Amino acid sequence: MTTKTKTKKTAQRRLAEQVLTHITASPTAYHVVANMIRRLEDAGFTGLPEEERWQLAPGGRYYVTRNGSSIIAFTIPGRDFRGYQIIASHSDSPSFRIKENPEMEAAGYLRLNVERYGGMLCAPWFDRPLSIAGRVVVRGRDGALETRLIQPDRDLLMLPSLAIHMNREANDGMKYNAQTDMLPLFGEAADKGRFRALLASEAGVPEQDILSDDLYLVVRQAPSFWGAEEQYFSSPRLDDQECAWCSLEGFLAADNEEQVMLHCVLDNEEVGSRTRQGAASTFLQSVLVRIGESLGRDGQDYHTALASSFMVSADNAHAVHPAHPDKADPVHRPRMNGGIVLKYAANQNYTTDGVSAAVVRDLCLREKIPLQTFFNRSDQPGGSTLGNISNTQVSLMAADIGLAQLAMHSPYETAGVSDVGALVDFCRAFYRAGAPRIRETCHS
Ligand code: ZN
Repeated sequence: MTTKTKTKKTAQRRLAEQVLTHITASPTAYHVVANMIRRLEDAGFTGLPEEERWQLAPGGRYYVTRNGSSIIAFTIPGRDFRGYQIIASHSDSPSFRIKENPEMEAAGYLRLNVERYGGMLCAPWFDRPLSIAGRVVVRGRDGALETRLIQPDRDLLMLPSLAIHMNREANDGMKYNAQTDMLPLFGEAADKGRFRALLASEAGVPEQDILSDDLYLVVRQAPSFWGAEEQYFSSPRLDDQECAWCSLEGFLAADNEEQVMLHCVLDNEEVGSRTRQGAASTFLQSVLVRIGESLGRDGQDYHTALASSFMVSADNAHAVHPAHPDKADPVHRPRMNGGIVLKYAANQNYTTDGVSAAVVRDLCLREKIPLQTFFNRSDQPGGSTLGNISNTQVSLMAADIGLAQLAMHSPYETAGVSDVGALVDFCRAFYRAGAPRIRETCHS
């Protein structure tokens, strides 16, 4: 291995370690946003409350949050801008939401009552240490309501499998019932009341001050690098925190004197985005409109800016699975460590079309960033993501990309080390780029 290759590998590994540090510290969408705010403030960004009037200045760096689970950070060029360079990803991952008063007795034990959040693979949730994380809403001293993030740093729960001796068909395929099979074991019947006491102690308030909560199960398994050359890593929540982190990394490393750069991480993609803070909400539109208004631009300017903008919808993609290569398109075969993946779907669940694909490919060719393509098998409908949903609120040219991973929606997913660097490079180059220059010919 040459010294140059070795240095490059070390740099790639360091980036992958950083993304995993961020993911481990971010068990829920609330923590993703809190940790991103920390980085943004360190980099000189100012928080803008949605409920106050904004006074933005050319050259300013700002961020806005909604519900504490979605965040949009942006930078204003020093002179009048043309449009918006946007990368959008999502902050949430499939998990189980803990219901209120969750303790349920069964056979002398206590289990927690949970419901599904998103479409997860159930089997890998069994037989590994679990905990809880999220936010607790408490009554503050002055009577105002306050949210407190909690993240107990210990193993609290387990979903033990039924022994093979009691179900000889277990290896012939299992069905999981969310109400009966997926309730984790918390303690003995005599421990009733301990859950609420735990929340109070984690939130640092008396039990009676807790009014409600948004809590989720969290897999505690630490990330790991593995493989012949340690070229892979596995971790919870790679979808989509890997893309979200790369977007922030590229955003903080870039500047642009022509376009407003926006780093958007939106909640609720896993349940369809139709929430106050999701991609189907007014959040992004409201931020774009307010940027223009605050800088003295008018309605016409808003529309010209949208026409001079580009959005990258960044959400992880499926790598070809070595045991099931026939599940992928026969020609387009994304693999881990093969670079970023441009995603297509004729039904436009992905926003990519010929023109937006050309914008992405042109950038990758100029920046020497490896690019692969994903298509669903023609007989499979495939998934969707936030780009086309966001486009119903803020319509602009867009393309869908992601990184190739295995075991999507497992609580422990797998991806490639060198891809992290490829996406950071892409995001930085994209944020630096000017408005797309396209000559459309509308006659034959
Ligand atoms: Zn995703």
